[in-house]
Amino acid sequence: MAPVLLSTPAVVISTRSLGESDLLISLFTLESGKIKAVAKGAKKSKKRFMNALEPFTEIDANLARSRSSGLWRLDSVVIKRSHVSIRQDYSRFLYGCLCLELLELWQKEGAEEPEVFTLLKWYLSRLSGDSLPIQVSLVFKARLLKSAGLMPGIKECRVCGCIPDRGPVSFDRRTGEIFCSSCGKNAASVAEISLGTARCIEFMVNSSLDRVQLLKPRPDQVTEAWEYMKLLHCRHLQRQPASYRLIPHNMYIGRYK
Ligand SMILES: [Zn+2]
Repeated sequence: MAPVLLSTPAVVISTRSLGESDLLISLFTLESGKIKAVAKGAKKSKKRFMNALEPFTEIDANLARSRSSGLWRLDSVVIKRSHVSIRQDYSRFLYGCLCLELLELWQKEGAEEPEVFTLLKWYLSRLSGDSLPIQVSLVFKARLLKSAGLMPGIKECRVCGCIPDRGPVSFDRRTGEIFCSSCGKNAASVAEISLGTARCIEFMVNSSLDRVQLLKPRPDQVTEAWEYMKLLHCRHLQRQPASYRLIPHNMYIGRYK
């Protein structure tokens, strides 16, 4: 039986060794979401894929899937953007690795998600530019959670529906939903977040990708939002992604250029 052929824009998420000469590549594709594909002979002949299999690289991928085994094979690639600047800057690289790991952990194989692909392309282009790595990574994390249907509304009190006009507001540590000051008194398992930070997160999630870079949160708001998003991701994944341990705490604070 002839294999199913697919040509699609894709981003390389990760690469690992498979036997003596092959590589197993995890790709996020426009047409088919996350897929794993074998690159035959890629370990032995570097020339064949021309450094196209480094994480963060945007490629046009030509793939074939066996109808009997369902396995994908990567036949050839064309590099569209290599994003070398992400790999050359330690801070950008660490944040980028975390976001690729989140993508790997969140996305189901073979589920087409064009909005997540658009978000990933936006993220890589901002991360390789002069954006603050922690801030663009926050936007990515928050919108990825939204695409999974797990980003809570953090504008209105979960119980009475009012919009708090004073902070700090408390939030449910399990779901991230916020409470106004009177409803928060009776809630269990709560933590606090400043009202300014809650509004920043809401803007990061709901504004257009063109407008989101207009946001200039203070460093303390970025740090607080980072901890809030980290809590939710770890809670829903029921584990802490390994890349979190690589990001030193003092790297949270950056400066705008
Ligand atoms: Zn309330």
